[in-house]
Amino acid sequence: MSVRVRFAPSPTGQLHVGNVRTALYNWLFARQHRGAFILRIEDTDPERSRREYEVQILDDLRWLGLDWDEGPDVGGDFGPYRQSERLALYRDYATRLLEAGWAYRCFCTEEELERERAQARAEDRPYRYSGRCRQLSEREVRERAKAGLPYTLRFRVRPGPIVWEDVVRGPIRWEAEVIGDFVILKSDGWPVYNFAVVVDDLLMRITHVIRGDGHLSNTPRQLLLYEALGATPPVFAHLSTILGADGTKLSKRHGATALREFREQGYLPEALFNFLALLGWAPPHEVGELLSREHLLELFALEKVSKAPAIFDLQKLKWMNRAYLKAKPLEDLVSAVAPYLQQAGRVPTPLDEATRAWLQRVVEAVLTHVEHLSQIVEETRIIFEYDLGTALTYPEVREVLEDAGALDVLRRMERELADVPVITTEAFREAAARVREQTGRKGRALFHPLRIALTGRPSGPELDKLVPIYEIGATLPLPRPIPSVRDRLRQFLEWAERVRAESPSR
Ligand code: GLU
Repeated sequence: MSVRVRFAPSPTGQLHVGNVRTALYNWLFARQHRGAFILRIEDTDPERSRREYEVQILDDLRWLGLDWDEGPDVGGDFGPYRQSERLALYRDYATRLLEAGWAYRCFCTEEELERERAQARAEDRPYRYSGRCRQLSEREVRERAKAGLPYTLRFRVRPGPIVWEDVVRGPIRWEAEVIGDFVILKSDGWPVYNFAVVVDDLLMRITHVIRGDGHLSNTPRQLLLYEALGATPPVFAHLSTILGADGTKLSKRHGATALREFREQGYLPEALFNFLALLGWAPPHEVGELLSREHLLELFALEKVSKAPAIFDLQKLKWMNRAYLKAKPLEDLVSAVAPYLQQAGRVPTPLDEATRAWLQRVVEAVLTHVEHLSQIVEETRIIFEYDLGTALTYPEVREVLEDAGALDVLRRMERELADVPVITTEAFREAAARVREQTGRKGRALFHPLRIALTGRPSGPELDKLVPIYEIGATLPLPRPIPSVRDRLRQFLEWAERVRAESPSR
């Protein structure tokens, strides 16, 4: 029998990294076994389900590179793939269980049930349904139904153990006694989760259910339903919870938890794919942790997935993302960062060819400081912003202002560059060499004032890289033009004079 697995998100919010890990493991398992990966939308909560979320979920999965063989958008032989479009099937199966005596009508009102729950709380015992309507005679049922009283269908839980061999957690045993008779169909005709899932997994011929361990307590109920339907249940694999670095369940407190947030911050899909694959499964030691999709497909083993909670280590994700960023061709990186710079109003939309080519230099110069792409905006301030007002906040800039020798270097440099038609890195170095001869200042004493004057900051990428970036950048149609090397020197010197004149101590 060929493998068929499913990812079954509820469209009630954005995809959480935990869900994405579930999707990823299902996908890996399906592709490894040349089986089918099915996407099913579990929208049985009409109040909380939204079509926009479904659209986002599909989009996020595609972005990560997960493709599905059957689903709401692509169809398939076992559809429809939205639970809200399968209500007739659930009713049909519920009726079968009712007729076979596995289910019964329950007329308990919400108030009555709440009383039972309150009683259980008062006695400090876990709640389970008393089974009151189990006892109703056929006549009583008929009369109440005739009187138009609303009812739910409840599953009649049989006594005795429920056991299964979980791929991740090993043998598991539950006593049915702790499970009260549970509702399978609500009075409005909608199924409850446990029932819909079983009908769907059965009809969609799912062979392996790989899902989060938050569903562990649902599995015994689902197994009882398979039993009642006379069907063989799928194999179950419950993935451990994902914890934050502090050992508590990963939540908003830990920062971003939705895939979309990471996507917006500019993490690469291949980095997230790699990172999430390692949340709960470890590759053999000798292959390291940076693994391509193809490599992961080769190595991943569901039966090796750990039952110990996985730790979401953001530092590790950043490290991985950087590794993938470094490996990416510059052209691709430019395409990836352009939207961030465009949104910040720094480069034009659409991007002209000259600016695109120039951005390769920009990206190359700042890449070592970028962990995820949205940081490009911050890291390129040194290129797009030349603000001498801010410069004064750096003590190093003040030092240069107070150092007559440093200002002399700048004046001489300005003179040396005056007639240079295009200030390339070489031309800049040659001019600096002449200034060195004239002043006797070398190394830091020579280049530090130049850096301060050109960038307005004490540190940043190498001047060799910045010089052509400024020179070429000054010729581009940027929304906010940037000054050339010569303009920077001039502006800085004029400004230095003004500041010195205004400062009474000098
Ligand atoms: N819809 C469920 C959820 O989002 C998944 C159900 C399942 O995998 O059985 O948690």
